[in-house]
Amino acid sequence: MICTVKSRTRTELIDITSKIQDMVMSAGIGQGLCMLYVPHTTAAITINESADPSVKDDILMIINRIIPWEAEYRHLEGNSPAHIKSTIVGPSELIAINNNRLVLGTWQGIFFCEFDGPRTRKVQVRIIKEKFQE
Ligand code: ZN
Repeated sequence: MICTVKSRTRTELIDITSKIQDMVMSAGIGQGLCMLYVPHTTAAITINESADPSVKDDILMIINRIIPWEAEYRHLEGNSPAHIKSTIVGPSELIAINNNRLVLGTWQGIFFCEFDGPRTRKVQVRIIKEKFQE
């Protein structure tokens, strides 16, 4: 399955938890795993606090400070900072499923990380049923 994400700005963390949870609920596998994979070189995926939206703002602020837009980059396309951010944050997450629910901590949410937007992006979603359920 594919989860489509539309970003609106150049760098942005987009909470996709409810979209993924809806897909997990529809799959109805009970217990298993949800694998999320971002097939892009200037985007990523991460899990962090979603309760307070200023946490994602702080994460972005510091990532943008550590990896500045202006430097002696050699990549001619001009988006090297987005490639670097993508590789540091990473392209995948694996989340347990119990009773058709993602097993996330109370404060955790799943964020699609746009580093070279705005664009329409895709997240590959695989929902895998556990063979031997308790
Ligand atoms: Zn590039």
